[in-house]
Amino acid sequence: MISNELLPIHVAGEWRLGGGDAYESLYPATGEPIARLKAANLADVDEAIVRADLAFRTSGWAQKLPHERAAVLHRVAQLIRDEAEPLAQKQRLDNGKPINETRALVASAAGTFQFFAAALETLEETITPSRGPFVTMSVHEPMGVVAAITPWNSPIASEAQKLAPALAAGNAVIVKPAEVTPLMALELARICEAAGVPKGIVSVLPGKGSVIGDAITRHPLVKRVSFTGGTATGKHIAHIAADKMMPVSLELGGKSPTMVLEDADLDHAVNGVLYGIFSSSGESCIAGSRLFVARRIYDEFVTRVAEAAKALRVGDPASERTQMGPLITAKHRESIERYVELGVSEGGQIRTGGVRPHGEGLERGYFYAPTILEGLTNSARISQEEVFGPVLVAMPFDDEETLIAQANDSVYALAAGIWSRDFKRAWRLGRAVQAGTVWVNTYKQFSVSTPFGGWRDSGLGREKGREGIFQYMEQKSMYWGTNEQPLPWAN
Ligand code: NAD
Repeated sequence: MISNELLPIHVAGEWRLGGGDAYESLYPATGEPIARLKAANLADVDEAIVRADLAFRTSGWAQKLPHERAAVLHRVAQLIRDEAEPLAQKQRLDNGKPINETRALVASAAGTFQFFAAALETLEETITPSRGPFVTMSVHEPMGVVAAITPWNSPIASEAQKLAPALAAGNAVIVKPAEVTPLMALELARICEAAGVPKGIVSVLPGKGSVIGDAITRHPLVKRVSFTGGTATGKHIAHIAADKMMPVSLELGGKSPTMVLEDADLDHAVNGVLYGIFSSSGESCIAGSRLFVARRIYDEFVTRVAEAAKALRVGDPASERTQMGPLITAKHRESIERYVELGVSEGGQIRTGGVRPHGEGLERGYFYAPTILEGLTNSARISQEEVFGPVLVAMPFDDEETLIAQANDSVYALAAGIWSRDFKRAWRLGRAVQAGTVWVNTYKQFSVSTPFGGWRDSGLGREKGREGIFQYMEQKSMYWGTNEQPLPWAN
């Protein structure tokens, strides 16, 4: 337990106890409480949003020149770096990821603020070609109050990914972190305050999604929602947004195919496949959870992946040697176990895993062994539905045409991986596979300068990239008349 005290939340520039129920954030590696807090209630939601709207109109944040807001964002990046280690440790406790991963997430959050500060300072509006006696321009304005709703799997990074561009654009931001991982968003609010973001511009409202997230989305003063989470929740938010005519971006689920061709560098491919599905315990939207291997090398390749999966170090997230930590909650582990049972009932064979690992310190946490299932088709439910855990379905393929047909046969289209030394084939497959991101001879690499998002049930809109700031702005066209005479019609 970090502290017995109830942790305050951040409502409209004030640190105070939420008006909702008290709850605990548990360390997934032991089940022990690491923080107690009171969730936000509906009155907190309304107050945070009304006062965010006031701060947007009166604090001067939106009116600051780009380089002035950029300077504040640079300070946020620096403060995150100054506190990198304690933040990484807190993130480890909040969601149970191994310390090496949480350090990378913290570094990524700092990098995101730095990138959007630079992007903001160098962002250009356009003068469009004139078609009459006027000068035409396209400019962008901040929206007002926008909301960032995030899941529990990579809190500080996904919160920074929304907060940085939304603040860069000059908005006020209501952050709604996942109920089970509230701590990093609160830390980011504290850091923004210390960096000079005006009071009321950032609020953090932990609580139940169906109550707090829903109320934020429906609030008339909220002008945009940036959501990352499950597809069902994303669709719910999209319905509300349609009624409000409100833009949304939705980063949703995935069931990403990884394709290993005969000519692949197998050492690299084995590593990439393992990392793609088992890092973050598979709790990753872009997890490469469907593996297609050329039939000629299938047995050799899957044997190597299975041996390497067995050897993964599952355990204490505090250890730098640990490769896989626990799952987020006991309930989530049960849902993964049900999926594996379903895969077996559909005719699948467990090549490795399919159990809770035993060993020192593993009994209390929500650990699950890296699992590989074989003997299933791409149409099995476990090949089609997102498990969001360390479960890989391996399938052989015979030719490129059936490979692409199967890879694309999914409601999801978030990411894909291709392993081949033949760049022409990799190019052909890379263009044919339907996915928001395609990795060729690598997997699960990210760059904040490159847009990210999904097709179909994997989402709408893109985050990251220089243009990411415009996602949080309204576009406006301006015509400056240069006529010497009155408009002819009026005459
Ligand atoms: P979730 O959809 O249950 O919750 C995500 C967030 O939405 C949480 O903050 C939750 O409290 C809130 N929420 C829940 N119901 C809501 C409602 N009715 N209205 C408004 N907000 C609501 O998802 P999760 O279980 O936290 O996260 C796992 C999912 O997130 C997986 O499907 C995963 O693929 C997806 N994900 C996607 C990406 C991406 O970038 N595409 C990244 C990470 C996770």
